[in-house]
Amino acid sequence: MVRDLSLSRIRQGLRDKEFSSREITQAYLDRIEQLDSGLNSFTQAFRDAALAAADAADQRLASGDARPLEGVPIAHKDILATTEGRTTCGSKMLAHYCSPFDATVVDRLAAAGAVVVGKTNMDEFAMGSSNETSYFGPVRNPWCTDAVPGGSSGGSAAAVAARLAAGATGTDTGGSIRQPAALCGITGLKPTYGRCSRYGLVAFASSLDQPGPMAQTAEDCAHLLGAMAGHDERDSTSVARPVDDYTTGLESDLTGKVIGVPSEFFTEGLAPDVERAVQAALDQYRELGAEVREIHLPHYPYAIPTYQVISAAEASSNLARFDGVRYTHRAENPKNLVDMYESTRAEGFGAEVQRRVMVGTFVLSAGYYDAYYLKAQKVRTRIRDDFAAAFEEVDLIAGPTSPTAAFGIGEKAADPVAMYLSDLYTTAANLAGVPGISFPCGFSQGGLPVGMHLMANFFREDLLLNAAHRYQQVTDWHARVPEGV
Ligand code: GLN
Repeated sequence: MVRDLSLSRIRQGLRDKEFSSREITQAYLDRIEQLDSGLNSFTQAFRDAALAAADAADQRLASGDARPLEGVPIAHKDILATTEGRTTCGSKMLAHYCSPFDATVVDRLAAAGAVVVGKTNMDEFAMGSSNETSYFGPVRNPWCTDAVPGGSSGGSAAAVAARLAAGATGTDTGGSIRQPAALCGITGLKPTYGRCSRYGLVAFASSLDQPGPMAQTAEDCAHLLGAMAGHDERDSTSVARPVDDYTTGLESDLTGKVIGVPSEFFTEGLAPDVERAVQAALDQYRELGAEVREIHLPHYPYAIPTYQVISAAEASSNLARFDGVRYTHRAENPKNLVDMYESTRAEGFGAEVQRRVMVGTFVLSAGYYDAYYLKAQKVRTRIRDDFAAAFEEVDLIAGPTSPTAAFGIGEKAADPVAMYLSDLYTTAANLAGVPGISFPCGFSQGGLPVGMHLMANFFREDLLLNAAHRYQQVTDWHARVPEGV
């Protein structure tokens, strides 16, 4: 029953009493039970808690007291702290960690009436583009189970694509909402840095991390973002600015809107079938009344190395807290205190996390700080300036989300640099702090989803959602469901 329903449709159906939250929630729980052994998109399902929340939602719906997402079943990426279940972050280090508090976005979605069916698998500590670094095993792409779903929010993307939840939260440090959304054929939005609170989000790179919504459609994301966003006293980088009603502007006409397409995006790393789908989507935007013009982001080619230096530096600092004294995993029978720290970290962190901690420690070390970290911060400013200049001229910046469609499990595992190139188009938005959205715009030659990426100026999530929604009104890529689910 839920296979063909979007979050927005479920939300409305609940309000119109077409079905109850218990029925819908049970349907998702059944699907998780039946289908997730083949996908591994969840680290845990919350059967009892979800049904209890659904019953409470049904009472509110019956008494005319429904909140914005009353009774709508969603999933949370397992990087967000929840008092329900565990908060594993895809790591052995936190495999048994139970949080004493809820992340702010978790709290807010609960206060909006959403029902949580479970928590989704992810790359360990959100480091990855393929979901292969999870301690709980790789997630499979519902469109082709030999392919990766993207990462690090690959569990959330696969769960939404396979219709195991109506929507999900993700987090995006360098593309982890948008790239898996693209590879799984769903819609995902990374908000402006500071739009959603990071409180209770296990920190990877604090100046880049941002939680956001993942769902079938832009309209669905508008509902989720409206509930998630807003100032939080517990996160000093969250911005005290009123939250838009993201659903009201969805239908706005795009006539006269200017879409800039940076020539820097169309390089040899871009797969021809991805390029074709994106060009066709740009034609669609011309038909919708937008003007499409070439622009330049001269420092864009430096985004990946800049991101790798800054994110690793921040990660090495943030992950220092996992020392065996606090937070679950601790090595057994250490010889002394230093051995306990070292063995705990050697056992508790996987290879990719260890690589990033080492790179981060290196770029922050005396003698290399100026050459790498400080230099990267300077380039970050240039990248930000490029965006500021571009947004003087254009309303949106468009391009592909990922240079290729989903690749095979294991294909890039041995080559971290090839893996990092998956983030070619996404990291710059995090470095600049601007919002970005990915939505389906076609299929590759191999029949896998392709994503279109739009970026806008600070706090113009409304425009991203409007542009994606208008496109989704005249196309049906977002409504396709993988075979076998
Ligand atoms: N894929 C990128 C990385 O490996 C981005 C991860 C993220 O956004 N959390 O760092």
